[in-house]
Amino acid sequence: MTKLLRNPFLRSGLIGAGAVVAVLLLFPGVLKDLVRADQFMPHATCYLRNPGIIFLHVSSDLAIGLAYVSISTTLAYLVYKARAKIPFHWMFLAFGLFIITCGFTHFMEVWTVWRAVYWLAGYVKVVCALASVITAIALFPLVPKIFALINAVKVSEDRRVKLENANGELEAFAYSVSHDLRAPLRAVQGMATALREDHGEKLEPEAQEYMDRILNASKRMDTLIRDMLEYSKITRTEFEMKPVRVESALADAQSSIASDLRERGAEIRVEGTFPPVLAEPTLLTQVLLNLLSNAVKFVEPGTRPEVQVYAQEVDSKVRLCVKDNGIGIAAQYQEKIFKMFERLHSTSEYPGTGIGLAIVQKAVLRMNGRLGVESEPGQGSCFWIELPRA
Ligand code: ADP
Repeated sequence: MTKLLRNPFLRSGLIGAGAVVAVLLLFPGVLKDLVRADQFMPHATCYLRNPGIIFLHVSSDLAIGLAYVSISTTLAYLVYKARAKIPFHWMFLAFGLFIITCGFTHFMEVWTVWRAVYWLAGYVKVVCALASVITAIALFPLVPKIFALINAVKVSEDRRVKLENANGELEAFAYSVSHDLRAPLRAVQGMATALREDHGEKLEPEAQEYMDRILNASKRMDTLIRDMLEYSKITRTEFEMKPVRVESALADAQSSIASDLRERGAEIRVEGTFPPVLAEPTLLTQVLLNLLSNAVKFVEPGTRPEVQVYAQEVDSKVRLCVKDNGIGIAAQYQEKIFKMFERLHSTSEYPGTGIGLAIVQKAVLRMNGRLGVESEPGQGSCFWIELPRA
């Protein structure tokens, strides 16, 4: 309550309301005269009951009054919905009150065409005058604050642009570094392969083992660079969203990992129908591919991977779910795994780079979607993505 009283607009409003009540109590005659219409002539008489001029005034006053009521209702709704985010929101309420009271003065103009309730019309004007004067007075001290706010918005916009540029440069740098690393890596791989093939027999078994290690490490680095470039591509490329048939993206994803699926004896069950989604076809295929290859990879040794893919409609969104019978993920890691290079296992247990889910997240966010996972250790996982329905 004390917080409310600190608000200058509310405080002045309360004082105004108190003054009105005091006047009514002190001069009870005021109340009696309020709706008396027999002392004066209605405006229609001044208009000589001319229908044209009456229509002109009545329709204009009605339109102005209704527009004022609509404007102030919209302002009140805006302030109510976004009160935490709008600075000086009480000022908007003051404007709302000022506008609505102006609206009522116009309604009184309509009434007094036929009924001479000029006392009431006058008091409505008093309320309007009070609201206008209070708003005008309250506006003055706000001027420097509003200037400061405009300045702060400009500074934060400048910062945003700088940050965006720096981010863009960083991404370009990461891309070119990853790209340029590939050439020397290819040379290392090529030379090591040639050395093993051409001079392998002459090497001691220990030297051969070192050679294998060099080849394995360079292969892993190549995969890492490829994944990083893939991630970078998603960030840098401009995409066009269009209606996509999920079935065809799923079929493309499955055929890209067909040999892996065959080797693991994996079963992928595509269940039910899929409403079309608004997406970018290659991104959606990439997302499904990453989720499917994880689903068949992260199973207990000796378990045959079984994956279900199905869709659910949530409001105007389509939720695609990839559910597996794998090792599951403990609750404390379920957010972490979407970050770059976050892995819960060693590469000897489960191979990978830790970039797959980061790619999934980036791609889904770029398609204006959401994603998540529901899982329990040992109970399998259900990765879901939500995209707008086409
Ligand atoms: P990668 O598969 O290359 O390791 P990801 O970014 O795709 O990298 O996944 C990150 C980590 O999240 C994985 O290393 C794994 O620990 C966990 N993970 C991802 N998918 C699954 C899944 N379907 N079941 C269990 N764990 C998973």
